[in-house]
Amino acid sequence: SGSLLAVDGLKKYFPVKGGIIKRTTDHVKAVDGVSFDIERGQTLALIGESGSGKSTVARTIIGLHRATDGTVEFDGEDITNATDEQLARLRSRIQMVFQDPTSSLNPRRTIGKSLAVPLKARGVPKSERRDRVIDLLERVELNDEYWNKYPHELSGGQKQRVNIARALAVEPDLLLLDEPTSALDVSVQAKIIALLEDLQEEFDLTYLFITHDLSLVRNFADETAVMYLGEIQERGVTEEVFQRPRHPYSRALLSAIPVTTEEEEAYKPRHEPLRGEIPSPRDVPSGCRFHTRCPYSTDACSAEEPTFATVDSGPSVRCHIYDESYRDEFDEIPEVA
Ligand code: SF4
Ligand code: MG
Repeated sequence: SGSLLAVDGLKKYFPVKGGIIKRTTDHVKAVDGVSFDIERGQTLALIGESGSGKSTVARTIIGLHRATDGTVEFDGEDITNATDEQLARLRSRIQMVFQDPTSSLNPRRTIGKSLAVPLKARGVPKSERRDRVIDLLERVELNDEYWNKYPHELSGGQKQRVNIARALAVEPDLLLLDEPTSALDVSVQAKIIALLEDLQEEFDLTYLFITHDLSLVRNFADETAVMYLGEIQERGVTEEVFQRPRHPYSRALLSAIPVTTEEEEAYKPRHEPLRGEIPSPRDVPSGCRFHTRCPYSTDACSAEEPTFATVDSGPSVRCHIYDESYRDEFDEIPEVA
């Protein structure tokens, strides 16, 4: 395919300390069969509550975790559990921006030095590095005054701009953005998102945008995948998913977003809010893993795991309600529009 990133059946299980080896219940199934792909220049948002496995997906893609199963293909190359040699090469094409802008910067290093490190690693001669760093600072709407500053002199938003600049220093194709704005004030969040949009256009960047803050997704991501307990439950074009979420989990999740416009009010899914807590990924419920919280759950839901069905040639949804062969199981079918 023409995808820049293709993830297929990705699993990441963590053994539980002190657990008995080979008992499946002694694993945390953080990622449990995730598939998606992203075309170059596009943004896919991976959304869901904390603990749904979103960050683990990104960390496994970039080689911070070894995949338990499944494949990751980048620009046609299989990079699943990449070798050190592969990883070194990929570092100039895939970068990650983390949630906490402070812990990812060395407190004893000036911003200028921090940004020069990846340039040095790429073989940019010393005489050119300062100009390149200033250029990077300007790309993220900072300036040469930051060259000599230390991280503690910067606000959270400024630090995150530096982190984005550092990721851009290697001229990557793909950015894995793991909750890049969630440690920041709301007003700063919008500015960082606007910056990411500008940079995407300028450099033809591809984004995997991970967030639990759904209000940021709608105008930013081309496609959205909704994750629950290590699995994608619904995926499709963002506007479709936000206007008419089909999966009961997506509906509950999206009905919790504050409505800001009349248009949004008109489409606001009127559905039950999410009840209860997300179960432990160490003890994933049988059948449909959402059945312990789903208002429509039937016996079939706890017995058999749903597969993806495409609804109205739109989003793909993992729910028996949309599977013809389970129609008789449900007497209450949620309205789609
Ligand atoms: Fe709810 Fe059943 Fe659909 Fe799962 S399969 S989301 S439990 S209706
Ligand atoms: Mg875009």
